[in-house]
Amino acid sequence: MPGIFAFAETRDGEIRKVAHEVVTAARSLADALGTEVHAVLLGGPGTAAASAELGRHGADKVFVGESDAFANYSAEGFTTVIAGFIQEHGCDAALFPASSLGRDLAPRVAARLGVGYANDCVAVEVQGGQVVATRPEYSGKLVTQVAATGKPAVLSLRANVFLATENAKAGEVQTLDVSVNQADFGAIVREIKAGAAEKMDVGEAPIVVSGGRGLGSPENFKLLEDLAEAFGGKAAVGASRAVVDAGWRPHAEQVGQTGKTVSPTLYIAVGISGAVQHLAGMRTARYIVAINKDPEAPIFKVADYGIVGDLHQILPRMTEEVRKMMA
Ligand code: FAD
Repeated sequence: MPGIFAFAETRDGEIRKVAHEVVTAARSLADALGTEVHAVLLGGPGTAAASAELGRHGADKVFVGESDAFANYSAEGFTTVIAGFIQEHGCDAALFPASSLGRDLAPRVAARLGVGYANDCVAVEVQGGQVVATRPEYSGKLVTQVAATGKPAVLSLRANVFLATENAKAGEVQTLDVSVNQADFGAIVREIKAGAAEKMDVGEAPIVVSGGRGLGSPENFKLLEDLAEAFGGKAAVGASRAVVDAGWRPHAEQVGQTGKTVSPTLYIAVGISGAVQHLAGMRTARYIVAINKDPEAPIFKVADYGIVGDLHQILPRMTEEVRKMMA
């Protein structure tokens, strides 16, 4: 059976949350087309231990490729194995997360297969037997539907949009032959050093607490870090470009047109005016809360809840309430 390919991204031997979201989306396409979900995970020795989780999220078959060569992501090696797998199985669609790794890998696979690629999709469905993806364009100013003309439809999916659901049935685990020649790799990644404190990625966190120039100084971001911490490991700190350009926060935290696009369940914008370039990166969040002392700030136009006032007074009280709520 051709099936829907789902790329299961791992990090340090653990399956990432985005992998469950990709498998869940693949399940819905497979059900609509009457086919199976084939999840593939590649990693170093021991990767198979994590594979059962994917079955619970809707994979009929989980193919595990273990090799020392795949302990770290290799663009060439992963592309070769995955494109080969998709070709061999004649998959109808190939889904990847729109994570940093997925955005690197998916277009390479599409190019290798000679088909088109739709990036950062927020919905996928089957219309008249064809896979159709919905994706925002021009910084979210318009939304387009893209129908794949070739097979497979290669898509990457925005994090936190396809909520992972569990499935009672466990998938069948199979071993994948990953005997690729390391000499063919353009580069071999020997080691990956995590950034400071292994913080949650702002692009994937279910809650994002972002700060702008209104914070007044880099030290005041402690107020936001406290609020993020109060959510019990579910929140990441984000930033506007103004504070990244000022060197207050790292670029990895920047949300917006020239930063990351985020779609968390909850986005709290603190001391951020709401310039179009910032909105481009966060307007698809499910709930937006804005804290700003200027009642005319544009951020209030997209906010579900707005608090007009001084963030220095509001943030400590909000953190206290969140702590109580989470206790
Ligand atoms: P400001 O616009 O200065 O807003 C600060 C806000 O804080 C104000 O609304 C003020 O009322 C409020 N405030 C001040 N003190 C307090 C207080 N005590 N309590 C409560 N509120 C307070 N920007 C991005 O964010 N991301 C991008 O990716 C991005 N890409 C860009 C790309 C291009 C090509 C260009 C030209 C610009 C880009 N920008 C981007 C910049 C963008 O246009 C804005 O300049 C930037 O977003 C402003 O950041 P800010 O909201 O933190 O600062």
